[in-house]
Amino acid sequence: MFLCPSCQSTNTVKNGHIHNGKQSRLCKDCRRQFVEDPDKIFISAEKREIVDRLLLEKLSLAGICRALQISESWLQDYVKRKYAEVPQQVDVTPKKKGA
Ligand SMILES: [Zn+2]
Repeated sequence: MFLCPSCQSTNTVKNGHIHNGKQSRLCKDCRRQFVEDPDKIFISAEKREIVDRLLLEKLSLAGICRALQISESWLQDYVKRKYAEVPQQVDVTPKKKGA
């Protein structure tokens, strides 16, 4: 299973080979072309859930990577994407009227 490096979609198809014979793939969601990279391991949904929980515990990214044996570059990407799509929660405390 190969993940799109742009949108993390698994909806990818083979797209020929590049000059050095590596398999090229095309993401059907965002149309990005990329090369299969055996270093980019697939992170399962279960693992992502654990990552989410560890992030809430305010663990360092490096610590999470060590605990889950995932690459730090993947996690940085993941976090970046996560905070890009989820707008920062603004803590709005309702003001008490009167008193
Ligand atoms: Zn994509």
